[in-house]
Amino acid sequence: MSRLSINTHEAKQFVGSATETILDSALKSGLVFEYSCKTGQCGVCKIKVMSGEVIELKAQLVLTEQDKLSNKVLSCCCAPTTDLSIEAEDLSALHGIEIKTIPCRIKQLTRYSDELVGVTLRLPPTAEFKFLEGQYIDVIGPNTIRRSYSVASTASQGEINLVIKRFENGKMSEYWFNQAKDNDLLRLEGPKGTFFLRDGNEDLIFLATGTGIAPIMSILYGLDSDADFVQCGKISLYWGNRHPDDFFWQPSFKKLKVAVNQVLSRPTEDWPHQTGYVQKVALMTEHNLAQTAVYACGSNMMIQSAHESFLAAGLAENKFYSDAFVQSY
Ligand SMILES: Cc1cc2nc3c(=O)[nH]c(=O)nc-3n(C[C@H](O)[C@H](O)[C@H](O)COP(=O)(O)OP(=O)(O)OC[C@H]3O[C@@H](n4cnc5c(N)ncnc54)[C@H](O)[C@@H]3O)c2cc1C
Repeated sequence: MSRLSINTHEAKQFVGSATETILDSALKSGLVFEYSCKTGQCGVCKIKVMSGEVIELKAQLVLTEQDKLSNKVLSCCCAPTTDLSIEAEDLSALHGIEIKTIPCRIKQLTRYSDELVGVTLRLPPTAEFKFLEGQYIDVIGPNTIRRSYSVASTASQGEINLVIKRFENGKMSEYWFNQAKDNDLLRLEGPKGTFFLRDGNEDLIFLATGTGIAPIMSILYGLDSDADFVQCGKISLYWGNRHPDDFFWQPSFKKLKVAVNQVLSRPTEDWPHQTGYVQKVALMTEHNLAQTAVYACGSNMMIQSAHESFLAAGLAENKFYSDAFVQSY
């Protein structure tokens, strides 16, 4: 297969081919563009093709007609058929963070409710597993089933905490909720994704639904334990769930000041906090979005809706970061 040359607007160059997605070729060559699900469902890896032709290797499920008219494509779905020139930012913060496959064992399982389990994974002492708070891993379980989970612990903790929701008839849910036990041997591949904090000096709004709180716990605890971090801006967290029992975590920090909002989407009579959809509740409270970045994680529906409504309310396009918990494979 012929080697094709791909050039970015930042004058970075890498080799691609018609059988490999632009994103995979970039990652292989050590460049990291924004991405999350790698299955064409979340849209995070959207880039602009300035010149050249591409083919679709996977369906680009969230590409709009407007995107197509402006030559936008999903880099996780498309491969080049000619030399390409693209507009895509290389995220240097992720340079040197190697994706590894390593064995791990279950250290602890914590049942928060019938629908939620916390998992702590122990890594071999020699693993040297580095990640940025906010990233996710793939866990490879029994029968080589592979699913993505965000890391809820910080990089300095030396072990990996996950928070996992049960899916009806879910293959990996069956394992986590009915078979998993302490010391089970699994493999993980990672770290993956580009959901990490870009700039801690601006006002920060975190939006989460359900277990989408996991990478946000990691980011917030990471800031709280960072001796060099001095909080300059306002930090607000809006965490939405369907049932009061789903709020398994009561945020508490040593130095970080965070305005925490627990939002229930299916109100009960005795619920003392806000109700509704997180993105709507957040927009009713947050008015000045000029110096603000939004980090949203959880259901794809919340993320697509939050993206649209926050941009309409004045948030800059490049200040919305997201990780959608779509079906892994
Ligand atoms: C980047 C990323 C990070 C993720 N992080 C987490 C995390 O931290 N915690 C967590 O609990 N989950 C997370 N997920 C989702 C997770 O990877 C699995 O998709 C989910 O746990 C279901 O796996 P399963 O094997 O139990 O179900 P499956 O056997 O895959 O599916 C069972 C049924 O559930 C439906 N289904 C599966 N996954 C989803 C989904 N995500 N949304 C809606 N319907 C679905 C299927 O269509 C099917 O009907 C993440 C996904 C991605 C892409």
